[in-house]
Amino acid sequence: MPFCFCPLFSGSSGNALFLQYGDTRLLIDVGKSGSAVARALSDIGVPPETISAVLITHEHIDHISGAGVFARRYHLPLIANTGTWRAMEDKVGRIPPELRREFPSGRDFFVGDIGVSPFSIPHDAADPVGYRLWGGNLSVATATDLGHFSRDVFDRLRGSDLILLESNHDPDLLRSNPHYSAALKRRILGDRGHLSNEACADALLRLSAAGTRHFILGHLSGENNNPTLARRISVGALQREGMVPGRDVMLDVALRDTVGRVYTLSESAG
Ligand SMILES: [Zn+2]
Ligand SMILES: [Zn+2]
Repeated sequence: MPFCFCPLFSGSSGNALFLQYGDTRLLIDVGKSGSAVARALSDIGVPPETISAVLITHEHIDHISGAGVFARRYHLPLIANTGTWRAMEDKVGRIPPELRREFPSGRDFFVGDIGVSPFSIPHDAADPVGYRLWGGNLSVATATDLGHFSRDVFDRLRGSDLILLESNHDPDLLRSNPHYSAALKRRILGDRGHLSNEACADALLRLSAAGTRHFILGHLSGENNNPTLARRISVGALQREGMVPGRDVMLDVALRDTVGRVYTLSESAG
């Protein structure tokens, strides 16, 4: 069975990812309005009411702004760990008890045909997670909202077939941005903030050495980055290691407000 993945939206202005394996269709985060995410799903031919459940990474508004509306409108379970539920409860509005699913931190589980392995990420939220999702022996992982690329995160991601990896900002653009306060800059640059283009490129090299062949750069900042720059930094790092992007490693950039491609992974026979 093919495993499909589509970054509907990715960026500091809102995140929503779509996955399908077998009959199970999941969203990770609904960080745009419920109707924007429903439209994006329709664009890729997925009726919103066919979604099986919504997984939440953490309670920041760019990950949950439409989650409550979406879950209520389409009567979908909303799944988050205990700490995230506590922190987002009053932001998502009333969720009927039958749609409220909670998992203990660090516990793997299934939603229909998809195996879900949440893992902790270094980020300034209550109990933030990335997800590695399994369809048969294929796996897709999300790793955005990372203050730094820790050994632990690397261990949880290694060997994934496709990884959505944060390439949030260019540190110089961020430092010289007159619209950001000193406190906000410190937060983003901090150990529990967001991954810079350079840190992303380092992580990408380690993950490709560990076997991953397909990367999507995501969660780009609108003011302190752009797709061309993010891509250039990672491509440069790969080339310095003698790799040819497009041949040795596939590298795409998820755009903030344009529905991404649908990636289809297939299990190799034998
Ligand atoms: Zn966040
Ligand atoms: Zn975020």
